[in-house]
Amino acid sequence: MPSEYAGRRITGAGLGVSGVPAARAPRGLGAHVTVVNGSDGERQRAEAAELEALGVTVHLGDGDTLPEGTELVVTTPGWKPTSPLFQAAARAGVQVIGDVEVAWRLRAEQGRTPAPWLAVTGTNGKTTTVRMLAAILEAAGLRTVAVGNIGVSLFDVVLGDVEYDVLAVELSSYQLHWAPSLRAHSATVLNLAPDHLDWHGSMEAYAADKGRIYEGNEVACVYNVADPATEDLVRAADVAEGCRAIGFTLGAPGPSQLGVVDGILVDRAFVPNRQRQAQELAEVADLVSDAPHNIANALAAAALARAFGVPATAVRDGLRAFRPEPHRMEPVATVDRVHFVDDSKATNTHAAQASLAAYRPVVWIAGGLAKGATFDELVSASAERLRGVVLIGADRTLIREALERHAPHVPVVDLDRTDTGAMSAAVQAAVGLAEPGDTVLLAPACASMDMFTNYNKRGEAFADAVHALVAGRAEHE
Ligand code: ADP
Repeated sequence: MPSEYAGRRITGAGLGVSGVPAARAPRGLGAHVTVVNGSDGERQRAEAAELEALGVTVHLGDGDTLPEGTELVVTTPGWKPTSPLFQAAARAGVQVIGDVEVAWRLRAEQGRTPAPWLAVTGTNGKTTTVRMLAAILEAAGLRTVAVGNIGVSLFDVVLGDVEYDVLAVELSSYQLHWAPSLRAHSATVLNLAPDHLDWHGSMEAYAADKGRIYEGNEVACVYNVADPATEDLVRAADVAEGCRAIGFTLGAPGPSQLGVVDGILVDRAFVPNRQRQAQELAEVADLVSDAPHNIANALAAAALARAFGVPATAVRDGLRAFRPEPHRMEPVATVDRVHFVDDSKATNTHAAQASLAAYRPVVWIAGGLAKGATFDELVSASAERLRGVVLIGADRTLIREALERHAPHVPVVDLDRTDTGAMSAAVQAAVGLAEPGDTVLLAPACASMDMFTNYNKRGEAFADAVHALVAGRAEHE
């Protein structure tokens, strides 16, 4: 069967980690592909050369002009819906879709039964939940892989030779925005808090894009009982006949919910008689961390797996086998009975709040690029847990002012630095504030790009500084 892409004139918006594969895939299926990219630097030229070798045309330095004859635009997630290129596409009656939509359409072209998608979105916890889900599916003996912002590219999976029974797919709000025909087997919106509003334009638009993940779900729409906005999105979705709304809660579950009873994760949704029965799935002690948000992620993953028919024992085995990605509440070392934890991935206030809620007393290292966020809610919710705060980065004043308003009693060290070496000074300052038994937590509530290439580098700098501390102690002994 010839591909729907064969012979079509496709314009790719943007290069980079998602743009290059999104251009390569339709090109490989016989499309005429032109990629436009506003910036024109060394990295872009290298990527352009790679694509040109495959017969793709690349226009660097002009991301606004729609190439003549374009029949379809495939965009990378970073491009705002208001981009001039998309306005030109709208005027020309040309559809704009994203990489996920391309992959979704391609999966049906492969001449084999496509693997169903279990899809995860939310402001925070996506990667963790998707990887927990993949671990559970694997424990059930299913051929699966975690895809999305992690490791394997969706294109490699849908176009590759390996056959899968089911995919665990992480989807961002950007990807959902541009994926109109996606229909998951089952899906979840883990939580909703303001993020990326500069891209979406408003909280309503952001929520609506997240909510698209439920459209056309076949078996279950999984929502967070503690976050009613996620349930509203389920109600608004147009789903397949017989698809159920399934809640997850940190409390005792009602019928059609998964929840927690006496330290045990229980299922009252996928059992024969949910009015009377519940099925034990795993113990909280089976999880790497008993932080509330970690339990919530595990319940969401379990709900999706159970919707797919996975037995309870596989949920337990998968959750036991799961190991988190680096820089997500990662214990680094304990020095003089002070615990050092790296949650550099807490790049927004909602994530940092969840992270702070897991420790007490805590010396909090925070700051970076605020991305338009405000810190009042985070600080007032966390004030009583704080032993002290160390501030770094470009927007630290915003956090300091919130601390002055809501936690005036908490000692604050404002380092007034944005150089990379500031992390080492921050760890030293935190040691000065901490008492035995405390946790020093890097949970910046901000993006890292003012001081580091990315959150990984920020976390590594923190771990290096802590290890230097350990080495220093050893020398003195
Ligand atoms: P994402 O892929 O959505 O960025 P991750 O699983 O990588 O999510 O976790 C990012 C950070 O968000 C973690 O380091 C932690 O601080 C926080 N986090 C994880 N799960 C949740 C949750 N369910 N609710 C709130 N914060 C969370």
